[in-house]
Parts: sequence; C-alpha cells; structure tokens
Amino acid sequence: MLEPEVERRPWAEQLEVDDASYRTQLAYLFERSSFYRDKLEAAGLTSADAAGGLAEIARLPLTDKRELKATCTPENPVGAHLCAVPSEIVRIYSTSGTTGAPSYVPLTAGDLDNWVTGSARSYAASGIAAGQRIVSTYNAGPFVAGAALASFERIGLTHVPLGTGNTERLMLAVELLAPDAVVLTPSYAAYLVEWAADRDVDLRGSSVARVLVAGEPGGGEPAFRAKLEDGWGARVTEAMGIGDIGVSLWGECEEQEGMHLGARGFVHAELIEPETGVAVELTDGATGELVLTHLQHRAAPLLRFRTRDHVEVRMSRCACGRTGPRVRCIGRTDDMLIVRGVNVFPSAIREVVNAFVPDVSGYIVVKPRGRGVKQEPPLPVSVELAQDAAADDALAEAIRLRLREALVVQTRVELVPWGSLQRSEYKAKLVEHS
Ligand SMILES: [Zn+2]
Repeated sequence: MLEPEVERRPWAEQLEVDDASYRTQLAYLFERSSFYRDKLEAAGLTSADAAGGLAEIARLPLTDKRELKATCTPENPVGAHLCAVPSEIVRIYSTSGTTGAPSYVPLTAGDLDNWVTGSARSYAASGIAAGQRIVSTYNAGPFVAGAALASFERIGLTHVPLGTGNTERLMLAVELLAPDAVVLTPSYAAYLVEWAADRDVDLRGSSVARVLVAGEPGGGEPAFRAKLEDGWGARVTEAMGIGDIGVSLWGECEEQEGMHLGARGFVHAELIEPETGVAVELTDGATGELVLTHLQHRAAPLLRFRTRDHVEVRMSRCACGRTGPRVRCIGRTDDMLIVRGVNVFPSAIREVVNAFVPDVSGYIVVKPRGRGVKQEPPLPVSVELAQDAAADDALAEAIRLRLREALVVQTRVELVPWGSLQRSEYKAKLVEHS
C-alpha cells in the first residue's frame, strides 16, 4: 500500500477530513468561480455557509459538461468555472468531447501533484510495487491519461512507454524487456490474446504477471476478465478516471472486488439516479450514475459533476485493508438504451454473452433500430461466433433467453461469423446506430 495511513483511515474519519476540505473548497468557489457563484445563487445559496457541509451536498445543483461548455468564449476557452490566474496554471489538457470540440482542463502545480498522488495509489492497489517494470500502451502524452504515466515513477516502477498501433514492437518489448506488468485498454488486452494465438506466441508464458486495464468498462466483468486472465496467464485489475475530475481516480486491489477510491481526500463520490438526478445512498449493491466533487482543486474545480459512468457500489470491508466505497463500472450513461422502460447497457449485454465462450468469440454489437435512447423490443444484437463455429439456432435462442433472464430485455440475436466484428487496439464500440 502506497500510503497506508491514508488508505486504511476509517471511512467516517475520512468524511470528517473531507467535510473540512469541502467547506474550504466551497468558500474558494464563491470567491473565484463566477460559474458556481451564479449557479449556487440561482439555487438560493448566497454563501459557502448557506451551502452547508458534505452531509448536505445533495441539496446543491448538479453540474453537466454541457453547461460548462456553454460558458466558453474566445476570451475564456476553458469556461466560467476557471478560478486560477494564468501564472498559476502549469498544464492544460484537452478532453475529446462527444460533440467533437475539445474541453480544456487546466491544472495548477498542486492540482497536478494531487492527480499523480491519487493515480499512484490507484495503480499501486493492483499489487505492482517499486522496482518492478511496467509497459504502457497509451498514446496518452497529449491527453489527460498522460498524467497517469507520472504515477508509475511515483510508485517507483521502471516505466517503458510504447504507445498503441505497433503490436509487433509491443510484443518484442514484452519478450526482451520482461516487464512485470502491462497497462492497456481491456479491448486491446483482448486483441493481444487473439493476436498471440494466431501467431503461436506464448503470451501465458511471458513475464507479465499483472494486466492493468483502464479507459473503458470491461475489466471488471467476470467472464471478460476470466478470458483475459486465461489468455495472459496474469491477474487482471482495472482502474478508472474521468478527464474533467482526474486520472485513474479509482483502482482495483488484488481482491478484485471493485475499484477503491485512490483519489480519496481529493474527490468526493456520490451516486444519483440518472433520469431524475435524485441522490442514491452509498450502500452495498447500490447502482447509479457516479457524481464527483473536487475537494482540493484550484484551477477549475467542479462541484457535483455528472461523470456519465454508471456504477455499482460495494461498501463491505475489503480484505486488503483499504476503507471506503468501491465501484465497478457497469457502462456509460451515454451508451444506455431504454427498452420498454428497462435500462440496458451494451457492456452488460457483452457480459452475459461472454458466458457462452467458447461457443462465441465474446465480441458483440448492439444495433438499435430507432434513434435516441428509447427503443422498442426486440433489440437487435450481433454476436460473433468462435473461430470455426457454425451458426446454430439453438445457441442464438439460448443467448436470447439468458439476456431476457439476466437483463429483462427482449433481443433479436444474430450470430455472425468469427472475425466479422471490428477489433480495437483502443476502445471497443459496442453500439452501432443504423
Ligand atoms: Zn481492496
């Protein structure tokens, strides 16, 4: 554990520390953030005292990324939530927005240091430790994830940055430099298992004992994880962040029971019901959209920011000794479809389908017929067969029934030949609107 005195702190004690940080953060927002001053005043809160403490945070309005973008001007391309003066800012990242235009994420030296600290705790939770060697495969330099790479030095690892797009070179480095761990997206980890099998490369026999996955949901899905662990002969744990708030805020420990909040003390986590915005209590098994609040941020702090990540929470004790909530990402709220009133995540469909490996390859694409979120059943799902497997009506029917049972959704399952769905060296695309 990187910082046992912090990571093992009783959660109630952490919330007291966080409450003090939060009150200071609110006072800072009232002083420096025209965005939050206006937003909180519009909600009838005219001072930090009026807004109260962390226990009353659910009374405050939520922040949506679109609202921030709407305040961007040529004079202030960051947005009205910018609090720091130019001389305080040491870095400005860009995040790719779903609309295309990037958002800018400025950081002070202290913000950046907190990002690296939180990310280092999250990655160290996987069990990787000082003196070991890690190969990274993110073309992350210009992107927010680039800050996560600094956390590898913080842990004391030897970092071998390789980037995406040259699998031959990556596998050569794995062979010659004998890393203890690799960090990559779950899609790329799965792609490499197939790549190695096609070439009779013994991935299981490599030096890699830990596969750290991040960047998209999947690493926590039991069947998908089992497939990766089998292919790599290594333990798979996941990490998760959100560009506007911080990199690798969450990281899973060796117990593989969900991701711990590595950024504890810097970020406060809440859950809401995505449709109504109503707060959901953090109890064992609770699900909802993750909402995050900066506690010690200076450049462009955010309050109750909607991450669009739909998660399941675990509050039970973890055997590793770390305290506080753990999460498992179920999917992106943006990918969610509503089929006759039932929320359906494409990543959850993949999870169910993965139970049919080795009859299927594990690749799926959901092809909604209508535009928008609401869909009429049956929802078309293409499921790729395993190599050399032939289409089989009984298999399609079995998958359809399992999906109905597990997710309460009516689907139309189409089995497609092996290799016909797109592989990704980065992130998987699970939904294809026609
Ligand atoms: Zn743990």
